[in-house]
Amino acid sequence: MATYTPMMQQYLKIKAEHKDAFLFFRLGDFYEMFFEDALQAAKELEITLTGRDGGGERIPMCGVPYHSSESYIRQLVAKGYKIAVCEQVEDPKQAKGVVKREVVQLITPGTVMEGSMLDEKENNFLASISQLNDASYAVSYADLTTGETSAAYVGRDFHSVISELYHRPVKEIVVCEELAKEKQTEIEERLNCTVSFEGETGISREESYLIKDMPQDLVFVFGRLFHYIKRTQKRAMDHLQPVQVIELNEYMKLDMFSKKNLELTETLMKKGKKGSLLSVIDATVTAMGARLLKKWIDRPLLQEDAILNRQSIVQGFLNNFLYRDEFRDDLTSVYDLERLAGRVAFGNINAKDMIQLKASLQKIPSILSLLSHFEEPVIQTFVQRIDPLEELEQLLDAGIHEDARVSIKEGNIIKDGYSDVLDEYRNAQTNGKKWIAELEQKEKESTGIKSLKIKYNKVFGYFIEVTRANLTHVPERYERKQTLTNAERFITPELKEKETTILEAEEKSIDLEYELFLEIREQVKSYVNKLQQLAKDISELDVLQGFSFIAEKNGYEQPGFSTERIVRLKSGRHPVVEQVMQDEFVPNDIIMDQNTNIFLITGPNMSGKSTYMRQLALTSIMAQIGCFVPCDEATLPIFDQIFTRIGAADDLISGQSTFMVEMLEANHAIQHATNRSLILFDEIGRGTSTYDGMALAQSIVEYIHANIKAKTLFSTHYHELTALERELPTLKNVHVRAEEVDGKVVFLHQVKEGAADKSYGIHVAELAELPQGVIKRAQLLLDEFENNDAEDLSGQLSLFEPEQLKEPSVERKASSPIEEELGQMELMEMTPIEAMNELYRLQKLV
Ligand code: ADP
Repeated sequence: MATYTPMMQQYLKIKAEHKDAFLFFRLGDFYEMFFEDALQAAKELEITLTGRDGGGERIPMCGVPYHSSESYIRQLVAKGYKIAVCEQVEDPKQAKGVVKREVVQLITPGTVMEGSMLDEKENNFLASISQLNDASYAVSYADLTTGETSAAYVGRDFHSVISELYHRPVKEIVVCEELAKEKQTEIEERLNCTVSFEGETGISREESYLIKDMPQDLVFVFGRLFHYIKRTQKRAMDHLQPVQVIELNEYMKLDMFSKKNLELTETLMKKGKKGSLLSVIDATVTAMGARLLKKWIDRPLLQEDAILNRQSIVQGFLNNFLYRDEFRDDLTSVYDLERLAGRVAFGNINAKDMIQLKASLQKIPSILSLLSHFEEPVIQTFVQRIDPLEELEQLLDAGIHEDARVSIKEGNIIKDGYSDVLDEYRNAQTNGKKWIAELEQKEKESTGIKSLKIKYNKVFGYFIEVTRANLTHVPERYERKQTLTNAERFITPELKEKETTILEAEEKSIDLEYELFLEIREQVKSYVNKLQQLAKDISELDVLQGFSFIAEKNGYEQPGFSTERIVRLKSGRHPVVEQVMQDEFVPNDIIMDQNTNIFLITGPNMSGKSTYMRQLALTSIMAQIGCFVPCDEATLPIFDQIFTRIGAADDLISGQSTFMVEMLEANHAIQHATNRSLILFDEIGRGTSTYDGMALAQSIVEYIHANIKAKTLFSTHYHELTALERELPTLKNVHVRAEEVDGKVVFLHQVKEGAADKSYGIHVAELAELPQGVIKRAQLLLDEFENNDAEDLSGQLSLFEPEQLKEPSVERKASSPIEEELGQMELMEMTPIEAMNELYRLQKLV
């Protein structure tokens, strides 16, 4: 290190403390990066790599201009990197030796606050994970932009932790360094999150207001998060709200597989919102409403009261949809109160934000008067609760200039009339300027120079400018200040005197404006809690008006709930598929009484089996978040959990095969489901050989039937399994109808009772336009298999039959005399010609 220049030594010292971040090292008007950082940043940001002599060697270097650094920081953060912003913390002119520099802030994916780096429709959570004394896990969340924080116990296996965090808007997760490497990798890859470390977990007495009434072990998980925030942000974090403890067992549990397979908030393939359930039911008009809806989908309710409460608001909006539409209109001019409140609390609200705040508050009275038209008592409680914060609106209206600048140090923020002193300064300025205009007129007349002008610039202040041609008319009393090519500039004592008054007034007014602004900001801060409550109420109403809006638009009905484990879905539809389809979607009933737990679904490929299954899961989730559902009529149980094993996809992250993933997902369901759960198993066993797969499928069905008793939709292409209906009293066969028309299969997408007779696989292959040769040959082979195979199958099946099955599921045919004879033949003892003769004899018996 000794060979490096003092500045590079300073750099290396700071960099050593920020190994996991790009160090943006301030050098004049640039942030420079060196060594590895420079090589990588040049690549990631596509900026030019240069070098710098650093004492002996050439050091790789690249830089970004200070004034445009935000967009570079944004790019890096979006890619999951962290940036340590290192500033000069003393005046270079006063520095002895190298200017002192310090890291003033760490910008990380989970802690960005700048609006331009955030998705307005999504929270930006930072999370932490801790393992507690009893080895179970807990997580904690914080969104710095809104100040909300929460914590929850999760469970003993790491899988539950991943499931809890999966598809949530979490960008970064703080853990302890001791967390096993493979778990860190799982976080990075499966959750697509940046991993950060923090060892400290304690909360000081001054900060204890954050953790009131919290169990001690949850304090630690939040403590980790909190210390990380403090360490990276290097400032007070008093805008964080007290931690809300989330009892996960008060919500429907959805594991990672279900969140993924059901495409609740993003789709499997494109990883975007489009095509997800969220995209179909999101008719919110505010950003905060959109964020709340996503939270609701992540945590469907289990308490009927709470669900009914939401439903009655939706119904209320529907009953009076004209007022609802006006209400929607009004909401569109409400800004993001939640994030605004966050910035108020954080102390970085600017004048533009305040104008947005004011505009939003100005809408509240009209919103309240619209809401008072709705009769539902629950809507009325909102009307009573919502505080329009008139004093705050008046303060902002009186104080803040409509087109105030973002910068709070350049004046032009405070309105006239707000402060007498400020008005005086402003008068002095205006009067002064008026006086100068009059002076210009006077001087023109007295000198006779028509082109004479009084101008202003930063160096000379006010001056009189006379063109070269008119110089002879300039009076004695003018004092020469500057000579230009075509003109000369002069001053007079009285001009200078006035100038001092004007400039002083200007300076004073800017200072005063800044002070007044800070004062207003403090006053606004005292409304933080009320603003947060208002934001909460508005977002909730926004989600619910959205529910009523799409209920009307898409023809949804209000579902009822049964405690008797009854599913009665009449003419149900798949909420997403019906939206994207060109043709008519064919509605189907799903009716399972108390004594029906399992539907064994057969039918050709592509007929609609998995659509039918997902339909029930999505409908249930919609119902449990308070949304109406796509059907003519619905009564549903309140499911405690939904498990899915749908679709075949290799798990690239764990490197497991399709079949292994299938078995892991099946196992997960079997281990955790209760009789209040919903299980969807789509073609389980497909990933292995026929007999293996069929055996596993059957034994899984039997296990669910005997031990779990969850409502289960089980689709299969093993027709042999349909025989189970005779053995298992709570299992029922249903099938998706298809018809053969002129040798071609036609899908009707209708689900009917009973088993399907054929699987039509070859017809589907034909639809896919495989060559005719392939199709014909497959048909031949199929005929052969069907003629030969029945016996083998039943034989194989029985190998796996558990004891509770008294009869073999596929009956063995009684054998004929010819078969008896064939069976007894000692083929190995015969010559070929003897065998030929025996065969000839037997054939004649047929
Ligand atoms: P399977 O699981 O039987 O292979 P899918 O459920 O994947 O079949 O459905 C295949 C396609 O059939 C879907 O993409 C959809 O376009 C269409 N489909 C499914 N169900 C219906 C329905 N009820 N009405 C109309 N079209 C449907």
